[in-house]
Amino acid sequence: MNSISVAGVEIPTGHLINGHRIDSVRTLRNTSPIDGQFLGDFSSGGAGEIDLAVNAARVAFPAWRDLGPSGRGEILEKLATLIEENVETLAQIETLDNGALLRSHRKGVMPRAAANIRFFAEWAKEQLKHEPFETRGHINNVSWDPSGVAALITPWNAPLMLATWKIGPALAAGDTVILKPAEWTPLSASFFADLTMKAGMPPGVFNVVFGPGEEAGAALTKHPGISRISFTGSVPTAKIIAKAAAENLTPITLELGGKSPLIVLEDADLELAATLAIEQYDNAGQVCLSGTRLLVHEKVVDDFTRLFVDKASRINQGDPRHEETQVGPQIHPDHLARIEGFVERARKEGADIVLGGKPNEQLGGLFYQPTLVMKPNPESEIFREEVFGPVLCLQTFANDEQALAMANDTEFGLAAVVVSGRREHAAKITKNLVAGTIWVNCFFVRDLRAPFGGSKKSGIGRDGGTWSFDFYADVKNTVVAPHGWKE
Ligand code: ADP
Repeated sequence: MNSISVAGVEIPTGHLINGHRIDSVRTLRNTSPIDGQFLGDFSSGGAGEIDLAVNAARVAFPAWRDLGPSGRGEILEKLATLIEENVETLAQIETLDNGALLRSHRKGVMPRAAANIRFFAEWAKEQLKHEPFETRGHINNVSWDPSGVAALITPWNAPLMLATWKIGPALAAGDTVILKPAEWTPLSASFFADLTMKAGMPPGVFNVVFGPGEEAGAALTKHPGISRISFTGSVPTAKIIAKAAAENLTPITLELGGKSPLIVLEDADLELAATLAIEQYDNAGQVCLSGTRLLVHEKVVDDFTRLFVDKASRINQGDPRHEETQVGPQIHPDHLARIEGFVERARKEGADIVLGGKPNEQLGGLFYQPTLVMKPNPESEIFREEVFGPVLCLQTFANDEQALAMANDTEFGLAAVVVSGRREHAAKITKNLVAGTIWVNCFFVRDLRAPFGGSKKSGIGRDGGTWSFDFYADVKNTVVAPHGWKE
């Protein structure tokens, strides 16, 4: 079994299939975005490894299904506790691997990964019920039956957090799982795989296959042995996955990108609005939910911009392991080049870049300066497409109707932020905003009971509470007649 030593722990670099670590001949090189440090070579799987994993998950399925919500819940609760006990290690390795802030991994992200597992285990036991109802003396019993093998494909921006957001409900629902993490961030998935074994999860219930999306991911999504595909990532990849799923009519859920609006109404607390706008640079802008289009009422735009630029120019950019750092590096040289491309093309088109606009030369490496583009052409690429970096655009509006029209004039619909000083005014705007989640005078407040997902090209389906189980389970209605009984 091959492994690497990172942050004081040994992390296997092979897949986890049927309770065994399996190394592939081919490998993928993994480096840290913080300083380019080589972290190790991870196994790079393809159709063969996927086939083994699907078979293992299918064999493990009946026993896992038959354990029921309580039996599964016991193991999942142990797993959640193990994550909690290993928050520090998980935080360290995730920061090394994807460059997001260590302090937010410690305080928010990793405890949340544990909560994702615990919440769905408890929901399956306590909340997943439907009162029987009667039809002319016949009783309808609705149940959520396990569906089989769930294929979970996750991105690099919040690797373990987004994986557990799928793993929790899939396993609690009684499905067995194959996780295909992003090729740039395999570390936390491998460490987590060890925790599933320590928690006593039977072999084959949880499997991980590492490898490129075009090989391991493609083989997984077209496999006839899987019953569900849950994907978080980009729109172009989602289209490929939807086509692969169509071949077997495998149900899919897609959580994709966004170009979310942050609307500052004329009655907004501008200090609050500027603080919320600064938060859109979190994780170096590599967050699908980010409100990257700042739509500001023309009467307050000068005051807002002054406050925003003042805060933005004081942002502490640097090593994500340092406590005072607010914005770290981008994930990968290819991704940095993509961000640079967007901003350079905008510059060539004459965009007014009032802040940042280039890599941080002092820091070098993969650091890109927090950037603000003033009033770009509303039809331009920088205002319409997801950059997935610390790049915000600002536009003004004259009235509520214009604000709403601008906010909805996008092919995405993942999230929106509305900042207003009057409840009725905010409600007037939120009523017809098209977005899966809207935050009013706040950002990123998330509750696992709430639905989460995107409208339009931001996705298909919703996660959270019973919505997750509606996807991972086969929902069944058993109608029992009042007659025909011999007892
Ligand atoms: P990004 O552009 O942010 O890297 P992707 O959507 O390409 O986002 O990647 C998200 C996840 O999808 C990763 O785990 C990646 O390996 C996987 N992936 C990429 N291409 C495919 C594909 N053709 N089939 C299945 N999964 C894929």
